[in-house]
Amino acid sequence: MKIQIYGAGMAGSYLYVLLSQEFEVGIKDVRSKPDCRCAWGIAYRQAKELYRAIGVNLDEYFLVRPRRAIANGIEFRNRNIVIFDRKRLLEDLWDQIEFREIEADLKVDATGHSRALLPKIDGGLYPTIQMIEKHDAEENIYAYARRTGYAWAFPLGDGLWHVGAGDLTEERAKEMIEKLRQKYGFEKKDAVCTCRAKVRMLPPSKCRPFVHGNVVGVGEAIGCVSGFGEGNAPALQCAKLLHQCLVEDSLHEYEERVLREFRWVEREHAFVESVQKGKTLSALLKVPWVVLTERKRSAELSIGSIISVLRSLGS
Ligand SMILES: Cc1cc2nc3c(=O)[nH]c(=O)nc-3n(C[C@H](O)[C@H](O)[C@H](O)COP(=O)(O)OP(=O)(O)OC[C@H]3O[C@@H](n4cnc5c(N)ncnc54)[C@H](O)[C@@H]3O)c2cc1C
Repeated sequence: MKIQIYGAGMAGSYLYVLLSQEFEVGIKDVRSKPDCRCAWGIAYRQAKELYRAIGVNLDEYFLVRPRRAIANGIEFRNRNIVIFDRKRLLEDLWDQIEFREIEADLKVDATGHSRALLPKIDGGLYPTIQMIEKHDAEENIYAYARRTGYAWAFPLGDGLWHVGAGDLTEERAKEMIEKLRQKYGFEKKDAVCTCRAKVRMLPPSKCRPFVHGNVVGVGEAIGCVSGFGEGNAPALQCAKLLHQCLVEDSLHEYEERVLREFRWVEREHAFVESVQKGKTLSALLKVPWVVLTERKRSAELSIGSIISVLRSLGS
């Protein structure tokens, strides 16, 4: 079988290396260089193991392991989030790739939030604005959230910080960045660079179909992003599932396998939706799931600390 991948971001570049061992594969990206706008945090244990399967040592791209994550002033011990040099990792993968378009039996939509090949879906797209700045601050992850979005500051090492926010509108995202600055003392500075992006905050069940004609989706294109916007390791995991289905000639099982694997993403999105709609009881009932999941993926959360964050959220 011949396979053409569109999009060489997290999922596409990883899938390309996996599939090239068994199939004739082409890959194409609209960019001439990997996207550097965002996504410096990664669920370390999950990503380390996934990258090992293609001979990539994630530790070579390590930048910082923050000790704490602080959301609306409430502190959590960081367990598993590592800040990595995503751009350099993708550049190294791109160096091994021969970009070309082939006559394919199957096309893969790995175009992230663009979902350029699969049928369009409504909603869930949040604008983000982000910049790299120099600050002298303790190397923690700082977040400031309200019901509809949040701002963050991630340490990149050597005094560099990735500061940004996503919310319903760009104006609201900018407001959140101001609030983050006031809360943690990240004063406004000349940015080393600034850019805009989008993230699709819909779970897989709301991003169907995953397969349409001879097109199959992977990664963010089919909703593999956590309720809090963590999409790097999930994109790799989704690519691994697609690779397995293609090797086993069981593409017909792909949708079901993705929905099963990413049940935790569904639950997180259901939690976030309850919060956004102000359904307090419904949100509280989901807190134990979020705690269990995020303890494995990110930080040492507790039910009490999540409730404290919930209490602090503005609209
Ligand atoms: C501002 C911001 C910050 C984020 N921070 C984090 C974070 O810290 N940690 C985390 O885990 N996740 C984060 N995410 C989410 C994460 O970046 C994505 O979920 C993840 O990159 C999805 O991987 P993907 O391969 O599906 O898509 P992407 O990595 O977005 O790759 C899509 C690729 O498709 C290409 N493309 C687009 N259209 C076409 C087309 N028509 N033809 C060919 N190619 C095309 C693009 O150029 C891109 O290279 C963040 C997202 C944003 C917007």
